[in-house]
Amino acid sequence: MQEIHTAHGALKLPAFLPDATRAVVKGLDSEDLRRCRVEGLVVNTFHLLNSYLANFIADAGGIHRFMDWQAPVLSDSGGFQVMSLIRENPRYGRILRDKVIFRNEQERKIVLTPEKCIQLQLKLGSDIVMCLDDCTRPEDALDQQEQSVSHTVAWAGRCKQEFERLTQGRASKPLIFAIIQGGSEKGLRELCASELIKIGFDGYGFGGFPVDREGALLSEILEFTAGLMPCASPKYAMGVGSPRYLVECFRMGYRLFDCVIPTRDARHKKLYLFKEGGSEIAGLQGDFLDQLYMDNPRLMKDEAPVSSVCGCGLCSRYSRAYLYNLFKHDEGLAVRLASTHNLYFYNQLIDILRGAEREGA
Ligand SMILES: [Zn+2]
Repeated sequence: MQEIHTAHGALKLPAFLPDATRAVVKGLDSEDLRRCRVEGLVVNTFHLLNSYLANFIADAGGIHRFMDWQAPVLSDSGGFQVMSLIRENPRYGRILRDKVIFRNEQERKIVLTPEKCIQLQLKLGSDIVMCLDDCTRPEDALDQQEQSVSHTVAWAGRCKQEFERLTQGRASKPLIFAIIQGGSEKGLRELCASELIKIGFDGYGFGGFPVDREGALLSEILEFTAGLMPCASPKYAMGVGSPRYLVECFRMGYRLFDCVIPTRDARHKKLYLFKEGGSEIAGLQGDFLDQLYMDNPRLMKDEAPVSSVCGCGLCSRYSRAYLYNLFKHDEGLAVRLASTHNLYFYNQLIDILRGAEREGA
């Protein structure tokens, strides 16, 4: 089984990392996360930078101390958010060959360069840093996809150089991952991957949106791109995803995942369950997934736990009726317990995939 070794311990793959966007997984603290068996987190460089938190966290001794989280942290580059906002609405700024100029809602100007992006992630104390990339949507025009690949490769070279300069002589270095862009164009994905592999990185991510505007997984290009990544390096399906998509990407060879879905769905009263016997199905063939919506009045007097095969803090102590009533009265505890359950579910899913990996599925 592949492992990623970091200064904050080894991360076994496959792994699912919840998004602690602004240094918090919504509704949960680090003790809750440990109880859900979470093994690593993703923080969002752009949101930290945009909210003035980045420099404060750096001065306060880094992200691990700030969050009281002593396990691996991956920081994204911020590229995805910045580029998406600018491409949706040019009032947010401009993407230039050597930098990105972003203006936030308060008209504050943020200039992001590849060097600054690496400096910032290292100052946060991240264990896995991501290169700045130029993110597109799959339906963007060919010239935009070409420009995105050209920027992504040039910026990755500058990121690597800055990373080497700043970590030279360190006994323990973080890892640096690059992101493969190219939209739905296989030729561009090939070009981007081969140029990034020439520079050399510790891992590679699938860049751009993994789903279309209707939310359907872009399976063909995801699988093609996974095939371009070196087998010895972790393959990261960024922003993936729902339980079904996570399993689909695992089959393609991806081993690292992150997404807001489990906690966002929990806030919207949607809880994940395995279909009866689903948690024992090796490799999760067939449809393994069930969902429980906590606004269903039939749950008002349901004394059963949300799931009888879950060991989370919700299922081991409380009934469906209890959670239903917490949601009904907008109690903050509802979100905490529901999020706990969904993250625990994801880690049960990861356990099953690790089992499948061991058996060579
Ligand atoms: Zn549970």
